Amino acid sequence: MLAMSLSSIPSTQAASLQIILIPCGRVSQEMLAFLEGGLRREFGADVGYAERMMVPESAYAAERSQYRADAFIDQAPVMGPGRETLTLMVTDVDLYVPRLNFVFGLADRRRRTAVISLARLNPEFYGRSSNPELFRERALKEAVHELGHLMGLEHCSDPACIMFFSNSLADTDRKGPGFCPRCRQQVGR
Ligand SMILES: [Zn+2]
Ligand SMILES: [Zn+2]
Repeated sequence: MLAMSLSSIPSTQAASLQIILIPCGRVSQEMLAFLEGGLRREFGADVGYAERMMVPESAYAAERSQYRADAFIDQAPVMGPGRETLTLMVTDVDLYVPRLNFVFGLADRRRRTAVISLARLNPEFYGRSSNPELFRERALKEAVHELGHLMGLEHCSDPACIMFFSNSLADTDRKGPGFCPRCRQQVGR
């Protein structure tokens, strides 16, 4: 299903972007391998891994049983001076930022680092039966969306574009895994 939206990637650009995935907490190998393949296809990037991290307890807000997304990003290792290296943390715990009930993810352009939470992407979170395929597709969409922010994209008004703002999972499920032509042109991939 995901392969449908993938456009051809100019090989001259393919080598220049590197994405480092950092599992943070309990994230399965299957999930990581799926994200790795999807990001490689979507961005034509080299995808590598950094060592698995513990969920930072300093990010925990006991009164809401959630973790602050920006505090996660603060814990990310600095990945060298390369301007073409982007870091994506992937965690199983539920994330929030002040004034929002929760976030699916957060991107910090200055640090070239983003984090996504798998917690609310899993149908089991809502008492539904498990659906690993849907779960993985949602995770890839959120990963591409946050990496799009790291590459300078803002939200897009096209509901089918991956850069459309997801207020709910219905928005996430409706949009495709790829960029609309305008956003695609902006990321240059
Ligand atoms: Zn966004
Ligand atoms: Zn768009």
